[in-house]
Amino acid sequence: MAPSTSARIPGYPFSSIEPLKEAVRVRLAPSPTGNLHLGTARTALYNYLYAHRKGGTFIVRLEDTDDERSEDHYTVDIIEGLKWLGLTWDEGPDIGGPYGPYKQSQKFDHYAQMANQLVTKGSAYHCYATPEELIALKEEQKNSGKPPRYDNRGRDLAQIQIDEFVKEGRAPSIRFMIEEPRIIAWHDHIKGEIGIETGDLGGDMVIVKSNGMATYNFAVVIDDIDMKMTHVIRGEDHIHNTAKQLLLYEALGIKPPEFAHAALIFDTERHKLSKRKHGEAAHISQYRIGGYMPEAMVNYLTQMSWTPADGREIFTLAEACEMFDLEKVSKSPAVFDIKRLNWFNSHYLRSLPIKTVTERALPYLTNVNISAYTNAQLEEIVASVRDGLTILSEVLGATRFYFEKELPVEEDLKKTVLSNGSSRKVIDNTLKVLPSFPWGDHKGCKSVVDGMGKELGLKGKELYWPLRVALSGKVQGPDLGSIISILGAERVKLRLQSALPHCGAS
Ligand code: GLU
Repeated sequence: MAPSTSARIPGYPFSSIEPLKEAVRVRLAPSPTGNLHLGTARTALYNYLYAHRKGGTFIVRLEDTDDERSEDHYTVDIIEGLKWLGLTWDEGPDIGGPYGPYKQSQKFDHYAQMANQLVTKGSAYHCYATPEELIALKEEQKNSGKPPRYDNRGRDLAQIQIDEFVKEGRAPSIRFMIEEPRIIAWHDHIKGEIGIETGDLGGDMVIVKSNGMATYNFAVVIDDIDMKMTHVIRGEDHIHNTAKQLLLYEALGIKPPEFAHAALIFDTERHKLSKRKHGEAAHISQYRIGGYMPEAMVNYLTQMSWTPADGREIFTLAEACEMFDLEKVSKSPAVFDIKRLNWFNSHYLRSLPIKTVTERALPYLTNVNISAYTNAQLEEIVASVRDGLTILSEVLGATRFYFEKELPVEEDLKKTVLSNGSSRKVIDNTLKVLPSFPWGDHKGCKSVVDGMGKELGLKGKELYWPLRVALSGKVQGPDLGSIISILGAERVKLRLQSALPHCGAS
């Protein structure tokens, strides 16, 4: 196992500190600029699991520094998604805690104050470059085939030049000086040893914009310090940000947290899972609303890049909390495969308590009269179809026939099944034995049909299909005994009677 050392930067004053002794504090820091992404949900899971495994604290902090793209409905979606997954936080947007409630937009003055400290220390400076100048610089670099970066032109401005800019009414941003060349190295709990060249960080970075708002890379460091984060677990798209952030910790003279970067999630064709490419399919809400079980999503996302030591595939969130090992999370990209998620979902649809599945199924039973059945019967209805469901939203199609007053039977089935001579015999005789069905006993109801079949010398399709078509409108579906038992004497009688006119002569 990798040593539990702090992040290490060559020459960094805290590079030799002992393993962290303080209690684990981790956070999910989503930006409310989009709905809860599958990748963010997986990051949330890793943080939650790590906190629970270590007896630590899991925090949710909304990173709403991007005022143009942050929207309240995204915050609602993120919170609902996390709650749906069962990833409750110990401190966060609605429950506060010693350092909360957490919303970065409430702390802009604090960030500005901290940035000014860096200016006073000489590690940051006011930059007067206008957006037009920066665009022109980018253009120039593009035309000469160079990667875009700030050229640090504002570092050593003469006072006379600064006065000139102020007179022009230019509002300065604050830029943090990035020393080049230098390698920022750290031990990553997932990726192992990482080294980033400061020359690849895009030049001196803006930490406070000209409108006074802190940028992500600065606010995140100040918040992680203020909230006493011990570990930062996030996606590997933040690896370069981590290098920048480690430089900020160094300049502030504060011990950085430890870092773990999880590989990104790709689709089965190796495209990064993104809203642009995959639309809503990249978001948790699509699955939450579409009839997936949160237990399946949690299990699927967790095992995507991590397998418990005993190799098991199926586990609950609580079980994962007991077994999770951050060091064993895979370094390679994860693949999101809907077929596999569906496999997990079918498993949980079949195995969760029927009461739970029924409660979750009810919102999907729209435009049908569910009050025609008792709660216990509704559970029987859902139980009768759940083995055939992949997602819960299919429950309406699978159970609609139970609720229908007049059962529409496809013309095709009337011709192929009911018109058959033995169908009339089966239906006539079922009406005769109707009083002997033990209603409520699914197996018993099936036995009555089988007993009748024996007497008529009919079995298999010849016996069952006419009844299935008459009672459910289909040849496939739940067990016939369940259909009969759940529908009950009255409905069975009516349906059989209305099927008779379509039956051939016996
Ligand atoms: N707000 C960042 C994001 O949504 C979080 C990065 C971090 O965890 O520091 O990507």
